Amino acid sequence: MTQTVSRPGAGAQQVPLPLDVGAIRADFPILTRTVRDGKRLVYLDSGATSQKPRSVLDAERWFYENINAAPHRGAHQLAEEATGAYEEARAKIGAFIGAPEREIVFTRNTTEAINLVAYALSNAVTAKEPEFRTYAVGQGDEIVVTEMEHHADLIPWQQLCERTGATLRWLGLTDDGRLDLSNLAEVINERTKLVAVTQQSNILGTINPIGEIVARAREVGALVLVDGAQSVPHQPVDVTELGADLLVFSGHKMLGPTGVGVLWGRYEVLDKLPPFLTGGSMIEVVRMEGSTFMPPPQRFEAGVPMTAQVVGLGAAVDYLQALGMAKVEEHEKALTGYALAKLAEIPGVTVIGPADTVARGGAVSFTVEDIHPHDVGQVLDDLGIAVRVGHHCAWPVVRRYGVPATTRATFYVHTGYDDIDALADGIREAQRFFGVAPSGDSEGATS
Ligand code: PLP
Repeated sequence: MTQTVSRPGAGAQQVPLPLDVGAIRADFPILTRTVRDGKRLVYLDSGATSQKPRSVLDAERWFYENINAAPHRGAHQLAEEATGAYEEARAKIGAFIGAPEREIVFTRNTTEAINLVAYALSNAVTAKEPEFRTYAVGQGDEIVVTEMEHHADLIPWQQLCERTGATLRWLGLTDDGRLDLSNLAEVINERTKLVAVTQQSNILGTINPIGEIVARAREVGALVLVDGAQSVPHQPVDVTELGADLLVFSGHKMLGPTGVGVLWGRYEVLDKLPPFLTGGSMIEVVRMEGSTFMPPPQRFEAGVPMTAQVVGLGAAVDYLQALGMAKVEEHEKALTGYALAKLAEIPGVTVIGPADTVARGGAVSFTVEDIHPHDVGQVLDDLGIAVRVGHHCAWPVVRRYGVPATTRATFYVHTGYDDIDALADGIREAQRFFGVAPSGDSEGATS
């Protein structure tokens, strides 16, 4: 596997990329458009949402044009075919992460999947069925998160604690952008009911040691939920190796449509959780006096589901599998090493997050001295370069590193070295525009 480790000033090396960027770009219709007066679109914001290949767009259109019906309802042919396509996609998406289909619950996105679990844990407190009270959370219990969580994996737990009287605790961060595990055994303790941790930080790029956290959680009998929003799209993830109890991710970040996300759970865990949303499709028997509920995954899929989107996500999984997730990971590692080295060559640029590619993914956040990240973003946008600016829904992280916000570039299968060169040139352009081009930057002065 290609290892590209950037050292400040070491010079950016273009190692051969494992993916054929030219061929891949041709699969993405949006990449043929221009922006800002005819400029090539340099899309470096896949971490926010990914672009979609034609096969995903075609799969959704095919569904609507041919078999559109509500799945799991009705006995007509379209309903049967729609149910078949929906369940086939469930099996495919399950196989993508090494899980059987009955452990795959479709949600709207990662955010909804985490809320589903958080509400199930507080609904458990008042559940009639003793089984559903297994994971009830209350006063004296603790929920553990980390300081690098996306708000989607923080606020639902804060709210759960407010509803139940439980206490929120967290693992902090080291100066070099890693989780501080020095007090792991103290923070995760006998009172811990659930640990929620991101596998790959959306702002720092850090890949966390999930195995170590799971091992400690097992010692105290706590559940572990892994936020895979930034890992499942970018690296091979197999739940049998991950060791956690729950994994959540979003379709729109992995070449799939918006409006579909996934909650994976060990069946024996899902089976003991009470529902979050209730209504049609999730019931067994309904009487005016009360109702009983279906087993998972149907218990958690109330209402007509996002059927075309699930079919589209199935096509996205096909696309990623055809590329090979190991290659996707290797591709992004090479790009990340190159980007870190390119940024290190620009005086005044500071990367917020690990400085090399060891246990690090392709979210590269940085600040440019004397220019606000929003202004950097604006200059880049004028050049056709789409990046994200702000606190990236991880406000405690920017606070921890003492910056108001960052500019963030994220990569995916269609990203090439030319995109990163455009980014580096764009940063220098911003420095010139704001009159802060450092005199020691020979490239900046001449380009
Ligand atoms: N978790 C992480 C690490 C993320 O990066 C994101 C989105 O950026 C989310 C959760 C929330 O994802 P969604 O907005 O698709 O629910």
